[in-house]
Parts: sequence; structure tokens; C-alpha cells
Amino acid sequence: MNQNDPSDIVGPHHYRNAEAMLAHGERVWLRAAESGLLDIHVDHESNDRLIVRETGHEFTLLCSCSYLGLNHHPRIIEGAVTALRKTGTTALSIAEIRVRLNLLVELEESLRDLYRAPALPGVSCSVLTAGILPLIASGHIGGAGGPRVMVFDRFCHFSMAYIKPICGDESLVLNCPHNDLNYLEDICKKYPRVAYVADGAYSMGGRTVLEGLLDLQNRYGLFLYFDDSHSLSIEGPRGEGYVRANIEMNPLTLIVGSLAKGFGASGGVAMLGDERDFQFLYRNAGPVTWSQNIDVAATGACLASADLHRSPELGQLQEKLRRNIDYFDQRFPTRFSGNGLPIRLIEVGDEDLAVRLSEELYRNGYYCSAVFFPIVARGAAGVRIMLRADLETDRLVSFCNTVESLMVSA
Ligand SMILES: *Cc1c(COP(=O)(O)O)cnc(C)c1O
Repeated sequence: MNQNDPSDIVGPHHYRNAEAMLAHGERVWLRAAESGLLDIHVDHESNDRLIVRETGHEFTLLCSCSYLGLNHHPRIIEGAVTALRKTGTTALSIAEIRVRLNLLVELEESLRDLYRAPALPGVSCSVLTAGILPLIASGHIGGAGGPRVMVFDRFCHFSMAYIKPICGDESLVLNCPHNDLNYLEDICKKYPRVAYVADGAYSMGGRTVLEGLLDLQNRYGLFLYFDDSHSLSIEGPRGEGYVRANIEMNPLTLIVGSLAKGFGASGGVAMLGDERDFQFLYRNAGPVTWSQNIDVAATGACLASADLHRSPELGQLQEKLRRNIDYFDQRFPTRFSGNGLPIRLIEVGDEDLAVRLSEELYRNGYYCSAVFFPIVARGAAGVRIMLRADLETDRLVSFCNTVESLMVSA
């Protein structure tokens, strides 16, 4: 063996390649940094009013995933504080499968009731995904019968794509063109056991093809893994999210979501289709087992938020969000108009124009991020807007006016 031959050292790069990723990613980050759009330190007055201490610059957040504004809801803040006072500890600091606080058990039961499914809490959605996907690949979740071919939708969120190398050590991993049911059906015909990994609502807009997937599940026993972080809380009568609101749970379906977006707290949740998986995952799902779970403050916040999800206030907030989305769609029709989700893209085409628009908006008091290839197609660069229920009407109107005048002058 030649000691200097790098081919002995470089990995196979089947599922990740940091060198290739950084080559593009770093350039984009550094460009945003140069434009003063990164590393902004603020004090919080509201989501509509963040203040840079050094300069006094004030701005409105138009790129927050707190779609219902629950991140500053007094009841949720109070829930966190009360939980700490009541338990008198920040955490027990022992694996939850061994010993866990009644407060966390209360949350498990509260989420089980809310989502009408066994609900496993986790410190984050990413940790739940990291723990669960490899066990689907190995065939330990989703019924006996051995490993499953893992098919990842090409647009699925980083938190899932990141786990491909681990899944790939257990079974065959494939990438599927976005929402391509024909591709998926071919795989189902070719292999006896297949799992499909997708977002429920995608972070660049659009949804999964739920009906077609359920049909494949019925015909081929396809396992479905959904991450519905972007529609949790904002859709469904109890904020179950798009997928849960439209399906019945079964042992071949698992839904995860972040509790740090629309839900307004911290942590993640896995809605399980099989009661037996609850204890099994607590024992065996990688970081779910050996890393911390939701801490006491976050558990208290989650409990308060879950209660709020059972009250009429949820529907009112969903309605306020809808009104803001409708107003925006009326001012700036886009291909996402009318899809009910809060993520919008103002397309300007050119990458530099997008960055300049984002800079100008920030100067005028609105933070939203420029997006370009590979996040969106080449030549389709623009500014990503995320609407909120707690975005004040006059603020939204003046934001739209500002965008309009900047686009005219560009
Ligand atoms: C934000 C996001 C996550 C990350 O959630 P955490 O709870 O912070 O890990 C995962 N999946 C999707 C689709 C997201 O948008």
C-alpha cells in the first residue's frame, strides 16, 4: 500500500461529500455575511420588532417559522416558568427509559391525545429522525421481514438526508425525483420491502403527494415516513399538521415534527403507527436513548402549547395566519398562491438582484432571506417570505408597499 495515496483515505462518498457541499454552501454564506445579513444580534420586543443594540436598528422578522406567533405567547412562557418552579429541577439527567419525570409523562399523554397516536417526545425533530430512520432501514420498525430499501425524496429536509450514510450501512438507499410516484412504484415492484422518506409540507413550498402514496402503501405495503414540521399547528383542527389531519395512523406510517416552529415551544415529536414502537424507540433509537430529552422548561412550554391547541384560540390564530397569507397573495401572486402554507417566494430571477433586494429590505426594517441555486432552480432566485399570524396588519401592508417600491426601482 502506498502511504501517500489519498484513495486509501478518502471515503466512498456514497451519501455525502463535504468538499462538494462546502464548495457551494460556503460561498453563499460568505456572501450573505458580506451583505450584513448574518450574525445579527438583537433584543426581542416582538416578532415585529427586533432591536440591534449597537445601532438601534429595528426590524420585523419575515423569515421566522413561528407561524402562529406562539413563541412569545404568555401562557407558553408561563408554562415553562411554572414547570421549573413546580419540579424544582432543570432535568433528572438520566436516560428517560430508566427514570423520567411525571411532567414528561404528562406531555406524552397530552400529545397522544392531541395527535390521536402514541407520541414519542424528543429533544428535537432532528434527533428523532436520526434515531428512527436507521431502525426503519434495518427492518426493526414497520413489522418483521428484514431490511427495507430506503427511498429519500430529493427535496426532503437536511435532517433526513443527513442520516442517509447511517441508513446506507443497514440497507440500500435510493434518491427519488421529487414527488415521483412512478419512480416509487417501480421500486415497490422491484423490492419486497420499501420505505419512502419525505416532508409533508416542503420548506420551499408545496406538499407531498399524499393520496398517491397511500395508494402505494395499500398495494405494496410501502412504509411512509413523513416530517411535517412546516404544517404542524397551522393545519388541522388540533394543529395535527397536513399529513395527520388527512390520514388514519397505521403500523406502516410514522410522522415526525418539530415543536419549535408553529407549535411555539422546543423539542420534537414522533407520532407512531404502532403502540409497541413507543417503548422500543425509547430503548433503541440512538440519540433518543443516549442524549437528553426535552428539558423541564421546554416540557412545561410544550404542555401549555398543547393545551392552547385544544382551545378555540388555535383556530383564531390559524385564521389570522390565513388572512395574512391571503393579503400577501393578493398583492404578490406567485405559483404558491392559494396553497394555504405560509412560505412564499418573491422571484426576481437574478441571484444578485435577490441579494440586493434582501439587503434593501433589511435596511428598510424587514428581515427575509435571499434564496438561489441550489435551493431553487437556476435563474429563479428570489426572496423567501414566511408569514405569521402575529404579523400586524399595518406592518404587513407597509412591507408589501416597500417590496413593491424596491422592485420598481430595481
Ligand atoms: C426545521 C425543520 C427541522 C428541524 O427541527 P428541529 O426540531 O429543530 O430538529 C426538521 N425538519 C424540517 C422539515 C424542518 O423544517
